[in-house]
Amino acid sequence: MQRPTCFQLDAPNDARKWHTRALEFLDRFDIPPTPICHLVAYQYASGRSDTLTETIDKKVATNTSLDGYDLKHLFELHCLEQDEAIKIDDHLSDLHGLLFQVLQGVTSACSHTEIFNETLQEQTQALSGNPSLEDLRTIANTLLDATSTAMHKNQLMRDQLESVEARTHTLQTEVEKLRDEVSTDPLTGLYNRKALDQRMNELLAETEKDPAQTLSLLMLDIDHFKQFNDRFGHMIGDEVIRRVGMTMKELVRQDDFPARYGGEEFTVVLPSTDIDDAVDIAKSIHEAVSKLVLVRRSTKERLPGITISVGAATLQHGDSCETLLERADQALYLAKEGGRNRVVTEAEISYM
Ligand code: GH3
Ligand code: MG
Ligand code: MG
Repeated sequence: MQRPTCFQLDAPNDARKWHTRALEFLDRFDIPPTPICHLVAYQYASGRSDTLTETIDKKVATNTSLDGYDLKHLFELHCLEQDEAIKIDDHLSDLHGLLFQVLQGVTSACSHTEIFNETLQEQTQALSGNPSLEDLRTIANTLLDATSTAMHKNQLMRDQLESVEARTHTLQTEVEKLRDEVSTDPLTGLYNRKALDQRMNELLAETEKDPAQTLSLLMLDIDHFKQFNDRFGHMIGDEVIRRVGMTMKELVRQDDFPARYGGEEFTVVLPSTDIDDAVDIAKSIHEAVSKLVLVRRSTKERLPGITISVGAATLQHGDSCETLLERADQALYLAKEGGRNRVVTEAEISYM
């Protein structure tokens, strides 16, 4: 079974080289060399994860700021989830092993029954002749032996099947739990980026089959979030993210798909929803967030109000997940540019 590459024991010279480069990289962005940040920087320095390299290179090329949180999210996306996925594979292969065992048990049970049947036939033939008393006694004993062997074997198989059934049930529950963990953001309980990509691809495939289907997307970002971290500390920052996430979860409909896109950014995928309905949902989330009241437990101090900016876009002919996300992101950018604390749709994007 292939383990994630961060479990790999590299050759000492390579490891030293990548370790040094990782530290240089962390220094360059003034990121503390905590184990997780170092792990991501080391993976990046080794260049063996194409997706990680691509993501970080893009940030570096566009001069996007990079901090410890970005590396933590990259760790969750590129290292942790890969590990969870491997755990699921392990469980599935356990399950496969068990099912194989059952099949073997059933096959062997059938062969016992065949032997038993053969014995029955033989003894029936023996009975249809002209058996002596001695013959009859032998036939009865043979039948008795064959019957008790078959019963014993059947009992053994029943026990084996029962234990296999219990184990299968436990494994299935564990696999389902792991699947949930793999697709959930631990802080907010919303879906994570990976689950979002998957769901969007599924929905896009559905709309290709039925082009009349509508699909919209919201991109939401907490305004001036950095000030919560800077003024009140990162734990409070996390609490703000969590409360905004919970608010979104409470307000969306059953089939909507709310996800944490990254740090303090969220998305909601809205199936069978046109842009007007998408804007209504965006406004309801926007309003509910602005009404949130957070009180610092230690000092009973009321935190400043939270506001969000939202960009809304709707599926157009020829869209891919990326282009739809891109337009929602541009609309979000316009909302920020326009002064934040508002909902903006893609209709306001100028393509000059
Ligand atoms: P804007 O209104 O333009 O969105 O400004 P902002 O301050 O909200 O956005 P900016 O991108 O400048 O800062 C976001 C910060 O969020 C940067 C990063 O340190 C922090 N951050 C990212 N992920 C987390 C997290 O999981 N928890 C906490 N507490 N902070 C995070
Ligand atoms: Mg923000
Ligand atoms: Mg942001």
